[in-house]
Amino acid sequence: MIVRPKKNLGQHFLTDKNIAKDIVDHLKATNIDKVLEIGPGMGVLTNYLLENLEYETSVIEIDSESVYYLHKHFPQLGDRIIEGDFLRIDLSEKISDKPFALIGNLPYNISSQIFFKVLENKELIPEIVCMLQKEVAKRIASGPGSKVYGILSVFLQAWYNIEYLLDVPPHVFDPPPQVQSAVIRLTANGRTELGCNEKLFFKVVKQAFNQRRKMLRNSIKGFSPRIEELDAVLLTRRPEQLSVSEFIELTNNIERLMNT
Ligand code: SAM
Repeated sequence: MIVRPKKNLGQHFLTDKNIAKDIVDHLKATNIDKVLEIGPGMGVLTNYLLENLEYETSVIEIDSESVYYLHKHFPQLGDRIIEGDFLRIDLSEKISDKPFALIGNLPYNISSQIFFKVLENKELIPEIVCMLQKEVAKRIASGPGSKVYGILSVFLQAWYNIEYLLDVPPHVFDPPPQVQSAVIRLTANGRTELGCNEKLFFKVVKQAFNQRRKMLRNSIKGFSPRIEELDAVLLTRRPEQLSVSEFIELTNNIERLMNT
């Protein structure tokens, strides 16, 4: 029995075992005793995860046909095969309230949503190794000054160091996706606080990148009628030129204007 690939679930099964092993080998899992795999499908990564005895592996899969397959081929996983939607599961309740690592060949159609969920649970997730669409991987890993640097890059780089690990071509999947793929690793950077109002930081970054071609003077003026009191050079810059720490500083300056 094999699982019929379902397009709406982003199912492109990796067929190259060497690449699968390589992806799993990139997981450092330092001081971690639990790993959660998102979307195991037919278990090409799971197979190698289970070889490692230093951590316990659980998997979450939305597709009931894959879940059936996994129970048949990996009976040792038992109730660590969770049938469900990663985007909806309460991680601290259903997985662990202690830090665990995430791994997965992600369903590309929801990769951004997966990262927003990671951000909501960042205290629980010190490491992520994942394969995703190359374009999104590049964006997440790129720094200020790059054309593809954006909202997700800033949010993730605020909390994680990001390494671009390898490119993966379409022909090693069944069915091959229309796009190139890549593997990245995110490792918690040790920051526990941003040093600014986090909610406002989210709003400022979003607002600035929603009009990424515009100077900050124009894109963020809605935050305060006194925006022109900010540093004149800063106001002429565009969001893609600002590092995470500059966004933090900007947020603090905006908050000061709003409160005085
Ligand atoms: N890990 C397998 C592999 O490498 O061959 C499958 C990877 S495939 C790109 C993505 C997997 O994620 C599919 O098995 C799909 O059913 C599953 N999936 C899609 N949406 C999901 C969700 N919201 N929660 C959990 N799993 C999901």
